[in-house]
Amino acid sequence: MRVALFGGTFDPPHRGHLAVARAAAEAFALDMVFFAPAGRQPLKPGMTVTSFDDRLAMVTAACEESMQQSTSRTQFVASSIDAPDPSGEPNYTVTTLDTLRRQIPEATLYNLVGADSFLALRKWREPERLLALAEWIVVSRPGYSLADLSSLNLTARERSRVHLLETVHYDVSSTYLRERLATGDSARDLLPDAVARYIREHHLYREG
Ligand code: ATP
Repeated sequence: MRVALFGGTFDPPHRGHLAVARAAAEAFALDMVFFAPAGRQPLKPGMTVTSFDDRLAMVTAACEESMQQSTSRTQFVASSIDAPDPSGEPNYTVTTLDTLRRQIPEATLYNLVGADSFLALRKWREPERLLALAEWIVVSRPGYSLADLSSLNLTARERSRVHLLETVHYDVSSTYLRERLATGDSARDLLPDAVARYIREHHLYREG
């Protein structure tokens, strides 16, 4: 079984996230992609504006809609594996991958990330162990170049576990969407329909 962890803030989940997951699912014949919103993102302290429950509900809606619209055999599953820790600790990917490895020891594990996240690898907790725990799928993102990874100082063995997928060119971010949504724009061009509906019904991201 080939399983990818796709962590993020997902505030909100957008069509770029789905494009990343679809491209990875196809290129790596994945059986399952776990979309896991982070309760507390260690690299974005204080930046999340929306509750974990709302973000998990939006991710669930996005996964369901995407699966309905696709003939792919890959399951997109919203996961609460990175729910907020009652101790207040941030959610670290190294812990999540450890847990997944224990839960599904027979799986080939992938960590799925966009180029911007991968280029910040040295800021992640325990980068060496992260690269040992899973294969990595790194997807292109407009504005971030994967041409030169020398700043990451990867060993040859680590580099062999990193798979670049440079076919996605979807210029969207949750930050941009939050700004548009705050003005009352529904941003339906960049949001899955079910996510746009959830945002409208729960009055999320509106200023004032
Ligand atoms: P924000 O603008 O709030 O920082 P974001 O749009 O980067 O959010 P996240 O939820 O933080 O979204 O991203 C989760 C993962 O998806 C990260 O690995 C990120 O690199 C990747 N990702 C998000 N949007 C894209 C995109 N348009 N193209 C490629 N990768 C993306």
